[in-house]
Amino acid sequence: RAKDLGRARYHVFDPQMHQEAIKTLEIENDLRRAVERQEFIVYYQPIISLTTGQISGFEALIRWLHPTKGLIHPTDFIPVAEETGLINAINVWVLHSACRQLRIWQAHPVRTKNLTISVNLSAKLFLQSDFLVQIDKIIEQTQINPSSLELEITETVIMQNSNEIKTILQQLKERKIKLIMDDFGTGYSSLSYLHIFPFNALKIDKSFVNRMLDNQANMGLVPAMISIAASMGMAAIAEGVETEAQLEQLKSLKCDFAQGYLFSQPIPQHLVMDFITSKTQW
Ligand code: C2E
Ligand code: MG
Ligand code: MG
Ligand code: MG
Repeated sequence: RAKDLGRARYHVFDPQMHQEAIKTLEIENDLRRAVERQEFIVYYQPIISLTTGQISGFEALIRWLHPTKGLIHPTDFIPVAEETGLINAINVWVLHSACRQLRIWQAHPVRTKNLTISVNLSAKLFLQSDFLVQIDKIIEQTQINPSSLELEITETVIMQNSNEIKTILQQLKERKIKLIMDDFGTGYSSLSYLHIFPFNALKIDKSFVNRMLDNQANMGLVPAMISIAASMGMAAIAEGVETEAQLEQLKSLKCDFAQGYLFSQPIPQHLVMDFITSKTQW
């Protein structure tokens, strides 16, 4: 019987590897269905301007609402999505949802006209030949002002295919779309990239913000990154701000923006408007 045959074949493979292969395949099939049925939701985390003390915008962070496993975080499925190419459909879906949502929030009467939305994009999407067409379509469909859209990319995106990426980033800039280098300081940072690519802001990785007040050596890095940003005409955003002490330090270093659990965890879309109207000043 087929079942017996299948069992017999197990002995040929390393059972550990076999289990892992099955698991990846399971996630892959699961993900395919999730994309078809749109099982994803977007959470939003506020970004605070340290000059005004007000909410300047939100970062869109995807979650997978799995029918049996519950809420799954991006770190647990984005890598598989990248491997299988499903990431493109997912990225486009997030972009569209976030832009549509921003348009709704901006129309609200209370101080929301200038809100921005930041969306994380993977390298794969940037290198799709129809990427700019997709972006234009989303802007057209959702009627957002392109200057309120911010795209977050990591250093690895740039490393992969720098000439092509440079052209695309330039075309995004012409559309007034903002570009943020995410997780700055991790990965294969090369400062020479910064003047080749037209970034509007550097987002200092939370690992540096986290250890900022531990000791003198760690303290040195955050001010250095903030002054690199300033000297190149880019804004500095600190991510992972969890304590008042970190916030005070960042303010005194003239960091422009901050986000983190101190202000709010990422929240589901239906709670955003309440958040905006109840907490407006830090
Ligand atoms: P990221 O863009 O660097 O996002 C920041 C992550 O830090 C988020 O995790 C956020 O929930 C978490 N975080 C925010 N504030 C704090 C804090 O104060 N303390 C700590 N410890 N963590 C904080 P999340 O939502 O699990 O996202 C993880 C990563 O997944 C993101 O890192 C981003 O690279 C990726 N990701 C999220 N959404 C998308 C998406 O729509 N598309 C793609 N391609 N990647 C995404
Ligand atoms: Mg990000
Ligand atoms: Mg980040
Ligand atoms: Mg990060």
